[in-house]
Amino acid sequence: LFVEPELAAGQQRVIEGNPAHYLARVMRVAPGDAVILCDDATGEWAARVVEADKRSVTLEVAERLREREEVPDLWLCPALLKKDRFDLVLEKATELGAARIQPVLTRRCVADKLNVGRASTIITEAAEQCARTALPEIGDPVKLDALLGDWPETRALFFADEDGGEPVADAFCYHDGPAAILIGPEGGFDDAERAAIRAHPAARPVSLGPRILRGETAAIAALAVWMAEAGD
Ligand code: SAM
Repeated sequence: LFVEPELAAGQQRVIEGNPAHYLARVMRVAPGDAVILCDDATGEWAARVVEADKRSVTLEVAERLREREEVPDLWLCPALLKKDRFDLVLEKATELGAARIQPVLTRRCVADKLNVGRASTIITEAAEQCARTALPEIGDPVKLDALLGDWPETRALFFADEDGGEPVADAFCYHDGPAAILIGPEGGFDDAERAAIRAHPAARPVSLGPRILRGETAAIAALAVWMAEAGD
């Protein structure tokens, strides 16, 4: 369970709302039971149930189990997709180790806004399910030209381009340092966008193979290759 930082041994934490409902009604915790807490700052801790009722559960923090993970410094920059498909991207990017998810607005995006609060909930639940000890950051959607215009110099921008590029596994396995993967929307990038991306000094077009993948598939495939190459 992710809670507000910072956890420390001996603290008492009172869990309320949905997490309390999950602990009390689904997991049916009772005093003395063990619960694992994370706080995205200090890592993962063992805690014990002190008392539990249907509205709140009181936990006492015991020992730290794991330090906060060091995830590869990889951003996913997916064009905003329709809600249910973008929900999948948020969940899978969390499971596959992205450090940051930066949604991008392009001319052919079908969706033009993101409920960041709801996105954070999806990310937190995915992190709890896959036992991450660090939450990926989620940015507010930015327009493509603003993203490119303000791009951090030291970060490679792998541009998933169905028109062709380096095989993604080659590009990733020889890369060392901060990186990002840019994925287009359902309708793809338009010619002007594609030219602007390719003209950017940090951009490196990569191919995910001969077939045209949906945006969510391309994001998952690219992250899976990255994870395989990065080894974590
Ligand atoms: N041009 C596509 C079409 O004709 O349907 C529309 C874009 S595709 C549905 C969504 C995005 O996934 C693309 O913008 C690209 O970023 C990525 N993508 C899809 N297939 C890819 C491939 N084989 N290699 C690299 N990127 C790919």
